[in-house]
Amino acid sequence: MELEILLKKYFGYSTFKKGQKEVVTSILSGQHTLAMLPTGTGKSLCYQLPGYIFSGQILIISPLLSLMQDQVEQMKRLGEKRVVALNSFLSLTERNKVLRHLREYKFIFISPEMLSVPFVIRILQGLTISLFVVDEAHCISQWGFDFRPDYSKLGDIRKKLGYPLTLALTATATKKVREDIVTSLGFENDEIIKIESTIDRPNIAFRFEKLTDYHDKQNRIIELVSQLQKPGIIYFSSKKAADQMASLLMEKGICQAMAYHGGLDATTRVLIQQQFIHNQLDVVCATSAFGMGINKENIRFIIHYHMPMQIESYLQEIGRAGRDGLPSVAILLYAPGDEQLPFQLVEGELPSEQQIDWLFTKLINQRMLNDGVIELNQELSTLGGFSEIQWRIIKEYVNHPDHQITNLEMLKTSLKEFVRERFKLKHDNIFYMKKLVDAETCRREFILQYFAEDRFQKIPCCCDICGVNLNDYQTHINTPSIQAREENWKDYLAKILIKCELSE
Ligand code: ADP
Repeated sequence: MELEILLKKYFGYSTFKKGQKEVVTSILSGQHTLAMLPTGTGKSLCYQLPGYIFSGQILIISPLLSLMQDQVEQMKRLGEKRVVALNSFLSLTERNKVLRHLREYKFIFISPEMLSVPFVIRILQGLTISLFVVDEAHCISQWGFDFRPDYSKLGDIRKKLGYPLTLALTATATKKVREDIVTSLGFENDEIIKIESTIDRPNIAFRFEKLTDYHDKQNRIIELVSQLQKPGIIYFSSKKAADQMASLLMEKGICQAMAYHGGLDATTRVLIQQQFIHNQLDVVCATSAFGMGINKENIRFIIHYHMPMQIESYLQEIGRAGRDGLPSVAILLYAPGDEQLPFQLVEGELPSEQQIDWLFTKLINQRMLNDGVIELNQELSTLGGFSEIQWRIIKEYVNHPDHQITNLEMLKTSLKEFVRERFKLKHDNIFYMKKLVDAETCRREFILQYFAEDRFQKIPCCCDICGVNLNDYQTHINTPSIQAREENWKDYLAKILIKCELSE
């Protein structure tokens, strides 16, 4: 059957989005595939459609619990009942129940830590896995900005599952990262087809503005939000700054705005997402946690109040604008010294040499090594003042099968070396991001070169350096704010009622 017919039958769409058909065709022909498609291209369809054709199960490895939940919910809303997420959100009883009935599911989303449980692997070995999907595949590479050590075991997991047909998906991977994905999954270069659609989104214009300080930035945001077409997202690296800006926009009556970040409880976060999706909010002032799994087509602007930590995250965040293909704008506001915040965030993410020394002295003194497994209990984390992410990195590193523990001193040295390399990589990433801010030539070209793309074509609304007019992104028809819209409705209703009374 023609693929378009299946697309219509299962998803209701008449045409494929750019890159989708190539990926689906490659998978259906039995080729291992690495696909780099920009955010919003519809990557999930690339495994869902083959899922309806293959007789076996589709196993999707996803690094983010929230993203996994969103994807499962979305598939269920579209009527797919045979979908499940196996992750730490499930209670032990729920997990055992799902595992007992795993054969009944068609689409199995799983977190990498679940794959390190031998019992889970044994159950998966009993299934027929038609497609092994690695979502956000850049997490597999040491050179990726979002490296997850437990993702690096996926090559080994593939082997345990009998080398199933594999699809690796990513939106943002440099050439080096793409090469690393291939080798980490255990492929030779000619064994896997690489489908790389351009990461360029020509309907999004770039504008970088240099301001003096945060007051200046706040004032500029008020100006921009008043003028630009909405809805939009403003990204912050600090929860406090996001809260402050949302309050300011509301107090000044500029628009309906809310803050969204990890400091809010889960119910509030879902509520804000829903309000934004259903056009009850004009603007969300968010940290990077917002946007993943949100399919909102008409986002007209993305503003960055803080500089992201790397070009990859920048691209992912601005990629949430203009999914409907209409003109949209990405504005980054920079004030001198802004790069200090990303540097501080890196310090908080990686353990320091002193912390590692302290931890290993404890481990050696207390002989916390049993049968080659190091006991890293929560008490040690608290005593050593480790952040959640620092502790996760240490745990994943020391218990990785590649780091066979024979000698704690040697393990300490290799962990320190690993952390040093991560620091260097993260600092280089910040450096490149700053270079983009300081660029004196076309910003789009700079970004494409960063991802080793040579298909650069000049477009009319490109970036501030090539010349972009903000008037093109402003509200011309003076779209009323949501509150005003509601008031207009009330007036309209009142008029109808009066008319009815008069005609009676
Ligand atoms: P990504 O993971 O690439 O960011 P998603 O898989 O979440 O993207 O899909 C983004 C949006 O595009 C979803 O709302 C999805 O329903 C829609 N979509 C996917 N494929 C098509 C298509 N062929 N035609 C129209 N819309 C599509």
